[in-house]
Amino acid sequence: MRVGCPKEIKNHEYRVGLTPESAHELVSQGNEVWIESGAGLGIDATDQQYMAAGAKIVDGPDPIFAECEMVVKVKEPQADERKKLREGQILYTYLHLAPDPEQTRDLVDSGVTAIAYETVTGPRGQLPLLKPMSQVAGRMSVQAGAAALEKAHGGRGVLLGGVPGVMPGKVVVIGGGVVGFNAAQMAVGLGANVTILDRDPEVLEKVGTHFEARASTRFSNAANLLDAVSGADLVIGAVLIPGAAAPKLVTRTMLKRMQKGAVLVDVAIDQGGCFETSKPTTHDQPTYVVDDVVHYCVANMPGAVARTSTYALNNVTLPHALSIARLGWKEALKADPHLAEGLNVHAGQVSYRAVAEELGYEY
Ligand code: NAD
Repeated sequence: MRVGCPKEIKNHEYRVGLTPESAHELVSQGNEVWIESGAGLGIDATDQQYMAAGAKIVDGPDPIFAECEMVVKVKEPQADERKKLREGQILYTYLHLAPDPEQTRDLVDSGVTAIAYETVTGPRGQLPLLKPMSQVAGRMSVQAGAAALEKAHGGRGVLLGGVPGVMPGKVVVIGGGVVGFNAAQMAVGLGANVTILDRDPEVLEKVGTHFEARASTRFSNAANLLDAVSGADLVIGAVLIPGAAAPKLVTRTMLKRMQKGAVLVDVAIDQGGCFETSKPTTHDQPTYVVDDVVHYCVANMPGAVARTSTYALNNVTLPHALSIARLGWKEALKADPHLAEGLNVHAGQVSYRAVAEELGYEY
């Protein structure tokens, strides 16, 4: 199969759909790989590296959209890219169609076969192609919070790990799923005093068993949340109610009880955020202050560590790309029902129930 990878054009997106190593793997299985010149520069992967991997470098995105059977990307196609998609072409990338009627209409009109990373499932119903980005964001939340706690960044001047003779900082993680678990790992590793709150007894048990005495667990209710956040130096919001907006767990009233210069990192901001005072920010201007509490609410945290994120993403997307290239999309989806869950648009129809229901398409 001829597989193409254009340069990402979304604002501040530095990741790339295929690393040179992934290109090499595809080529070594008999595929042709076309890479847009400069596509890998955001992760320091040069055209020469792709060529050494056996890929062909093309100028601009047009040859890829015009002549490749499968287009591999990271972010949803932007309006300019959507105009170039063709009937029968395979698009393999993150799409997030439910809140995006314009993109959905364009994909339907194009006749493309669109397989979305975010709806591919795993054997236990989890979303393995989303997981690495949650791992990245969770781990990053502690370093973002630690930096914001520095006095020059508006924080209360606390070093999370403390030093001999001085108490460490208090980190409260709300939600013990993928983001929360990874955040807790980093905070524990720094030597901070860590508390994880969740509503799911199984999550509390898993986290409790893993961290033992190195972190405390608490059931998440309003009273426990107020008690935990009012003494915290850093609070990390990591909750998710699948398919719903994040609940506003830390209210403005609770915020007023927090310490001056404490920091909130709301990782759940992509679902609306779990602090009442959260609003999305960007890597250019990541923080703002409300009631003397520093808020960090960057909606695409993994973009800042594009290299780690690209490799983490390729680790989980490449095996499916290889099987689609080997078998063709129809046979690949037949052979793997979890990959079949990724099919969102095909032959002018929305083929993923939740998206069809949300946007009023026939299913
Ligand atoms: P997850 O499903 O693995 O974990 C969510 C956890 O929240 C679950 O354990 C659940 O029991 C818990 N929860 C639900 N309601 C709660 C409540 N009231 N109190 C405490 N805990 C509660 O999800 P995840 O992969 O960890 O993702 C968490 C959020 O981070 C999602 O909104 C995800 O989209 C977001 N995210 C953001 C970025 C970013 O760049 N900002 C990157 C990756 C993920």
